[in-house]
Amino acid sequence: VTKIGVLTSGGDSPGMNAAIRAVVRTGLYNNLEVFGITRGYMGMIDDDIVPMHSRSVANIIQRGGTILKSARCKEFYEFEGRKKAYENLRKHGIEGLVVIGGDGSFRGAQKFATEFDIPCIGLPGTIDKDMAGTDFTIGFDTAVNTAVEAIDKIRDTADAHDRLFIIEVMGRDSGYIALHSGIATGAENILIPEAKTNIEDLIASLEDKQRRKKLVNLIVVAEGDEFGGAEEVAKVVRQRLPDMDTRVCILGHIQRGGSPSCIDRLVASRLGYAAVEALMEGRHNVMIGIINNKLHYTPLDLAVKAKQKIDKEWLKIVKILAS
Ligand code: ATP
Repeated sequence: VTKIGVLTSGGDSPGMNAAIRAVVRTGLYNNLEVFGITRGYMGMIDDDIVPMHSRSVANIIQRGGTILKSARCKEFYEFEGRKKAYENLRKHGIEGLVVIGGDGSFRGAQKFATEFDIPCIGLPGTIDKDMAGTDFTIGFDTAVNTAVEAIDKIRDTADAHDRLFIIEVMGRDSGYIALHSGIATGAENILIPEAKTNIEDLIASLEDKQRRKKLVNLIVVAEGDEFGGAEEVAKVVRQRLPDMDTRVCILGHIQRGGSPSCIDRLVASRLGYAAVEALMEGRHNVMIGIINNKLHYTPLDLAVKAKQKIDKEWLKIVKILAS
């Protein structure tokens, strides 16, 4: 390959800029031409494709969001949309693509790459960490640290007023942010989509703590838990324990923004570099991840389907440590 394109797609995540920077600079180092495609697959269809230079990615490694912008793109679900995208890539002579995004973006890339013979390399960019084939996704570490910082602050006020706070963190299908931030902030309980919650147990343990006057309580809930988020959990708790001063806090989009953590910058830099190497080696249609500190190549269709399994032992640890 001599010309490659890079885009960010789906939900943005902190560290995407560091990955773009790594792709551009590694490409240029290897005498490739690198094109930035804006707004994910929209930019391919609308021909928003610009050559990138070393200076184009100056001073972005520490910035959240993505300088290339991200978008969800309806037209890319249709063959006609993908064909238009292909024609624009051909026009610029682009022969390989680096897609930084989540599983939906890889599903699109897989289709596109098999239909049009453009090798695609996926880099996992999602705060949810719900990708198989990697121990890290770009943005997870930052998001979870943002959640921890926010929950620590809530704990201060919960303690001052003897309140129960039910805190909702992001994760429609994935409980990793809830699990990690909940453990790190000493939450009483963590509700995640991957595990059934025994509500009777939860109420009983809250009652027990009320009796023992252990009143600082934090419950961390992933937005996609079986009850449908913190508000719904609070409804049940208020109904069963009307004496408890129960408050809800939904952390929301602060978890997506902000300067990427050191880990996310390292992961993004390493993966961005590896993506260009992979294209030069003739690899195609794989997601690059890191497992046990080694690069790991997963076919895009498998990165899509498989989800990581949460180790149930963590939930046991939560219970023991909160007792
Ligand atoms: P996040 O994990 O943050 O949701 P994502 O990459 O999973 O990120 P999606 O909105 O699912 O985000 O996908 C991003 C884009 O990828 C879609 O807007 C669409 O353009 C393309 N895409 C997703 N699934 C497909 C598919 N089955 N066929 C073609 N294109 C797809």
